[in-house]
Amino acid sequence: MVAWNDNITPVFAFGLTTGIALTAATQYLLTALVGNNRKQIVEVPVPSEPLNGHSLVRKESGILTQHTRSLLRLEKEFTVSGQRLQTLVRHMVQEMKKGLAADGHQLKMIPSFVVRRPTGNETGSVLALDLGGSNFRVCEVYLEGQGRLRMRHRKYVVGDDLKRASGRVLFDFFAEKIEGFLDEIGADKAIERNLGFTFSFPVGQPALAQGHLLHWNKGFQCEGVVNRDVVQLLAEALNRRNLKIKVTALVNDTVGTLISHAYTDPQTHIGVILGTGTNAAYFERIEEIGKWTGPNETGEMVINTEWGAYCEPSVLPITPYDLALDRASTAPKMQIFEKMISGMYLGEIVRYVLLDLISTGELFKGRGSKKLDTPYNFETANMSRIERDHSLELSDTKAVLEDILGIPTTSIGDRRVVKTVCELVGTRAARLSAAGIAAIVTKMNRLDACTVALDGSVFEHYPHFANRMRDALREMLGITAENIILELGRDGSGQGAALIAAIHH
Ligand code: ADP
Ligand code: MG
Repeated sequence: MVAWNDNITPVFAFGLTTGIALTAATQYLLTALVGNNRKQIVEVPVPSEPLNGHSLVRKESGILTQHTRSLLRLEKEFTVSGQRLQTLVRHMVQEMKKGLAADGHQLKMIPSFVVRRPTGNETGSVLALDLGGSNFRVCEVYLEGQGRLRMRHRKYVVGDDLKRASGRVLFDFFAEKIEGFLDEIGADKAIERNLGFTFSFPVGQPALAQGHLLHWNKGFQCEGVVNRDVVQLLAEALNRRNLKIKVTALVNDTVGTLISHAYTDPQTHIGVILGTGTNAAYFERIEEIGKWTGPNETGEMVINTEWGAYCEPSVLPITPYDLALDRASTAPKMQIFEKMISGMYLGEIVRYVLLDLISTGELFKGRGSKKLDTPYNFETANMSRIERDHSLELSDTKAVLEDILGIPTTSIGDRRVVKTVCELVGTRAARLSAAGIAAIVTKMNRLDACTVALDGSVFEHYPHFANRMRDALREMLGITAENIILELGRDGSGQGAALIAAIHH
């Protein structure tokens, strides 16, 4: 059912501190994990990271069993100290500056052509199409003026078939669903409408309503889209259905989240996505964007950082498991920061760790399952369930492992280990994303007051994620971290696209 939402508030190597050779590490790991004879990787050298007095593992158990020895090793590998976070922030700021000055750097810092903040006085009905990674939504946003809007939307799952279909099939599917949505809400299809297209993939954008796909990520592989203008592809599909819809803005979901939150909170300067993938956008002063040669209408423009592509092996705590995941992924060596942070990958990292511990006989008496052997079968949502399980016997964890993943039997010791692994991987993700935010706030020089709008299932549903981010911000920025407000900007990507289409039309 499509219902009105009354919205007053709308809108590589091993942790390389020392630079150990990447290839040796990779080979070692691959033999360890992929070889027929899975070897122990217990002797893997790990950098010493101060654990800030908090050891998850020591808390769990007093005696140094085989379990705890492995957990201590994992804890060393996955823990990111406050000091390392600060190094990361400094390096990311440098990379942001490089990306603003010229193309061809690891942070693409893409100008979004969004140069205006909403005033709240915009009125009328605007459509939005929001393709995230796991879902796609069609929305109608009705701007009432005076900072009020109403939205109705419908959500569809993007299945694996569609992710691998041809571009034409993908865009025809969107047009079909848009038409179905208009029919469902009883809209008059003869009226011409504007549409904001939220397309959360890296695009080269020469204008607000134009952008060619640079490369797919998040598991998409649709042929015939890379290097093509996705606005044109959508317009053609809408034409084939004779729909009178004009695509007036191409928007990244981070940009949409930022703009929709700024509608009610003018202190919002950053939008962050922590969903299938991860990325961030923020308002930058035009004079700071050295590569920008276009007009300067308002003095500022939203920059899409594409921070998921950040990769600096000397700073990021990359473990053998990250390397194995990357090797087996559809786009190796790309989106390294994203692969350590976002919903598509967190469960997969845990799966690699569990496989390793099973291969050494340390977990489940060495017995895994077909399901756990299958890539991407350990979903990040399972980590949320496990981290939320505070029962004495960890009974929900048992349900996930035995009922969903088909592990024959699990002991309470096994379940504690699995829970700790989830905590390590989830905490690292939260701390790294906090470092990204600290880097942007530092670059903007907004340490005095800055609201960050965050959207995506990982931020919204993963237990403790927001608090772990706040802890990391405090470690990096001290008392000034209190000036950075993290707020959920739910549904912002669709609303924001509609707002941008309205403001810039
Ligand atoms: P999109 O990225 O398509 O906009 P979402 O923001 O909903 O969609 O993110 C989907 C991702 O979030 C998936 O990768 C999924 O693994 C993850 N996810 C879904 N539910 C949860 C949950 N309860 N806890 C943690 N992660 C989740
Ligand atoms: Mg989304």
